Amino acid sequence: MTTHQRLSRTDFRRVPANAPARVRVCVRLRPGVGTGQGQDAPCVRGVDSHSLEILNWRNEMETMKYHFDAFYDDTSTQHDVYMGSVKPVLRYLLEGQNASILAYGPTGAGKTHTMLGSPDQPGVIPRAVRDVLQMTRDASGDEWKYSVSMSYLEIYQEKVLDLLEPSSHDLPIREDQKHQILVPGLTQREITSFSDFESHFLPASCNRTVASTQLNQRSSRSHAVLLVWVSQTQGWPPYARRAAKLCLIDLAGSEDNRRTGNKGLRLKESGAINTSLFVLSKVVDALNQGLPRVPYRDSKLTRLLQDSLGGSAHSLIIANIAPEKRYYFDTLTSLNFAAKSKKVINKPFTQETLPDVASKRPSASSSDAGPEAKRPCPEEEQQPLVEEKPLSSLLPLENLEPALAERLLRLEALEKQQAGSGSRVVPILNTPRRERLGLLKQLEETRRELMSLKEKQLEIEAKVLQDKECAPAPRVPAKSARPRKQAVVLPFQQVLTPEKSQEEDGIIVISRKKGGRKRKVRKETASPSAENEAPLEWEVAVRPDLLARSKENILALLNTGSVKALMGLHQIGKKKAQLIVDWRCHHGSFKKVEDLEKVEGVSAKQAASFLKVNILSSIGNLE
Ligand code: ADP
Ligand code: MG
Repeated sequence: MTTHQRLSRTDFRRVPANAPARVRVCVRLRPGVGTGQGQDAPCVRGVDSHSLEILNWRNEMETMKYHFDAFYDDTSTQHDVYMGSVKPVLRYLLEGQNASILAYGPTGAGKTHTMLGSPDQPGVIPRAVRDVLQMTRDASGDEWKYSVSMSYLEIYQEKVLDLLEPSSHDLPIREDQKHQILVPGLTQREITSFSDFESHFLPASCNRTVASTQLNQRSSRSHAVLLVWVSQTQGWPPYARRAAKLCLIDLAGSEDNRRTGNKGLRLKESGAINTSLFVLSKVVDALNQGLPRVPYRDSKLTRLLQDSLGGSAHSLIIANIAPEKRYYFDTLTSLNFAAKSKKVINKPFTQETLPDVASKRPSASSSDAGPEAKRPCPEEEQQPLVEEKPLSSLLPLENLEPALAERLLRLEALEKQQAGSGSRVVPILNTPRRERLGLLKQLEETRRELMSLKEKQLEIEAKVLQDKECAPAPRVPAKSARPRKQAVVLPFQQVLTPEKSQEEDGIIVISRKKGGRKRKVRKETASPSAENEAPLEWEVAVRPDLLARSKENILALLNTGSVKALMGLHQIGKKKAQLIVDWRCHHGSFKKVEDLEKVEGVSAKQAASFLKVNILSSIGNLE
């Protein structure tokens, strides 16, 4: 997979980092080369673990002091530098944030020694790769699965060259919408162990353009950039993916061409190196001065480092300096660059991609162990999410058996609670599969029960009508066979409006055309033509004296009834009956039936529904 492919996913999500991060800068002084009389007198020395001083060339009696995040003197080891300054930066990779380590300094000052080292004294690169592999292994678990891969390139004479698959092809550098720098076409190799890494890195290092100068046998003539990608995939929804990039950069050193004796091609190479380092310095200046244009594009090096300087990475610059007097001005230049770099502020963030809904399945690599309950069951992934209206909104609850209505409401409340706060009632993705299937089964049973009850009710109504037509005189049907009114019951304030209507067993029947004005129609005698006009909604109002008496009776029961007696009321189960009794103990009597809604656990809607159902059912007894 190429770098471009890895980064060019859509649907980017910025997960904010804690805070802007200043570029960290440490300085490493290499030991003096040579011994005895031939050794150059040092022009720089350490003060403490953060500071050093260098002779003032204008006045040799004076020194200039510099302060950094860390100073490593000539006795420091590779381990000291790595543990003190490099390792702390690596942890951000596991959070999906970029990190960059850059070695800066004149040729021969120890950049390659610091970054690469030797088999005896391994430098930052082998130590960091080993630790990143170990850290990702340790962190891989149910939530995140990590994978590590690498790319290796060099910038030689303003050309970007792939070191893993060498060719003379100059690779382009691009920037995505989120200002991440990409190198389309750059080879990327997955590494799972340190020996994997070595098998790619060592042959690639031989491809590096190096040549000997008078100063340094293997002076690097190019900037070498090792990219280590830490990718992580979430083991459960939303299966987010993160890709952090670790940039390890061994810069080619700045060179004084008179001192190195460069001629011809070497002079040209040196010109390109010095130009890119000069632009690097200008970039830092522009960032520090807050200039609107930062000249990243003026060199390939700065373009590639765009997200490391003033960009999204946690960056560390290791300025390598040499103690000898002949390096004096190079050292001074390096220290000044290091000093101004520590003022650059980066803005690291976690870059996350969310896969499309269609591709939300975990990747093949993440298909191993994971808690079954936290994964969606296969049918969840395949079934489209069906938007459903709650069943209770489709059926008039007043017409249901109270216990059934209560059960339905409970089920719906449970489903809604699990589905989150949205109005959409959707299958619950995070409900464990077995529990969810149980709920669906219960819901299906309730639906079937409702349908059969409805059928039964229609049968009874038809029978009652038939009886009425056959009977010579109107008679009150037996209580058990009394059909419930097919009605939409008005709220009580509306019930008490003085509008006169037709009476039937103490119930005033008012008809209303859907969306139209009220008009009186006797349900039983409504002409077929009237029925054809428009569907009618039926409203029921109650004769005020009966309503008052009915309320009185209910109030008396609420105030004196035992749990068992209260359970005789419609829509009052054991739990609600107990709540009513408890409320009485704490607050005394109910003043009016509407006070039922004051009971904790009884909503206003439930109280209203309770009153409607109980008043209607008690009216028959009052007559
Ligand atoms: P650069 O990459 O900056 O041109 P090198 O890393 O190649 O410089 O170092 C130049 C020489 O100095 C090498 O021979 C290297 O082994 C030696 N050297 C650099 N730093 C140290 C150090 N801290 N300890 C011992 N030797 C060093
Ligand atoms: Mg070098």
